[in-house]
Amino acid sequence: MKIGILGGGQLGRMLALAGRPLGLEFGVYEPSPNPPSAPAAPTTMGSFDDESALEAFITDCDVVTYELEHLPLRAVELVAAKKPVYPPPLALAVGQDRLREKELFQTLGIPTPRFAPIRSSGDLSAALSHVGLPAVLKTVQLGYDGKGQRIVRTLEDGIGAWSELGERTLIAEEFIPFEREVSVIAVRSAAGEVKFYPLVQNVHRRGILERSDAPAPDRTSTMQCEAEDFCSRILKSLDYVGILTIEFFVRSGHLVANEMAPRVHNSGHWTIEGAVCSQFENHIRAVSGLALGSTAVAEEWTMFNLIGGAPSEAQFASVPSAHVHLYGKVSKPGRKIGHVTALRRDAAAVEPLVQNILAPAEPR
Ligand code: AMP
Repeated sequence: MKIGILGGGQLGRMLALAGRPLGLEFGVYEPSPNPPSAPAAPTTMGSFDDESALEAFITDCDVVTYELEHLPLRAVELVAAKKPVYPPPLALAVGQDRLREKELFQTLGIPTPRFAPIRSSGDLSAALSHVGLPAVLKTVQLGYDGKGQRIVRTLEDGIGAWSELGERTLIAEEFIPFEREVSVIAVRSAAGEVKFYPLVQNVHRRGILERSDAPAPDRTSTMQCEAEDFCSRILKSLDYVGILTIEFFVRSGHLVANEMAPRVHNSGHWTIEGAVCSQFENHIRAVSGLALGSTAVAEEWTMFNLIGGAPSEAQFASVPSAHVHLYGKVSKPGRKIGHVTALRRDAAAVEPLVQNILAPAEPR
């Protein structure tokens, strides 16, 4: 069986690496030259707007999946007209649009921050009155890693943010003074079997994921049950196949949904070493029709992203449980170029090595 992956970033690379031992073949389609996927799978270079190149790419694929969220929906729909595509294109359409995402959560009875659309500057005042101040304004599309969003404390701030964010459709959200942020990663097979990894606690800096602790320390059974219940509703409503991630704020011990990602997720990278079957292998198992692997976790793990640079491998030598993953990307400030996973008891030894890299990007 050959699986086509749209997108050749680190997620495409780790998907192919996880699937090869199962005897599966991979092909990756990616617009930029020498992407991280290239050493892991034959990579076809082409634009997502080039319909004939895409059609040629999928000719010998049995099934197609994708590793990035900001993929032109038209490209995925074009592929779906000819080959099975998982997760379903509807999940991508919802995941690409913060408004549709929040509306889906609301329809399914999943708690979210109060929200309101802002389609013109004339909507600002009513939207901010509805959600209250402070509020978070976010572009409805193409926002990621904290990009395309502003915290506003007054209507004047809101007017400034409207023009700074390019006068395009925004969503205003209630600012949640959260206790912490967590995510749940689930996998659903074509037969409807569902498995969950334990809740993960995430720390972001400037909107970029910096650290994940898995399982989330002090997670309560209420939190885990809420996460699985909310996630199940979404999986079922979208007739989902593959890995789905939902990010939540924790407020007064209960979950408030922030966003969903219809793909493998940075907060699940620890599953490569930490779970019986990783999120990458389980995604591949789901989309290729294999039985799901176990999501059981025996130890506590911590993952740190390597952002903007990486210490030498030798620096991690004193931390026996540290597993370094480099994506083959050129370093630049703010860019994720790899990650390190270690047993939680060794996290304190890894943190200073990673902090040295993060520090130069921080304001002084
Ligand atoms: P997002 O791109 O929506 O995941 O936002 C990036 C980060 O900004 C989140 O992980 C939070 O730390 C913060 N954030 C986003 N929305 C809100 C909100 N409504 N209230 C408080 N913090 C938020």
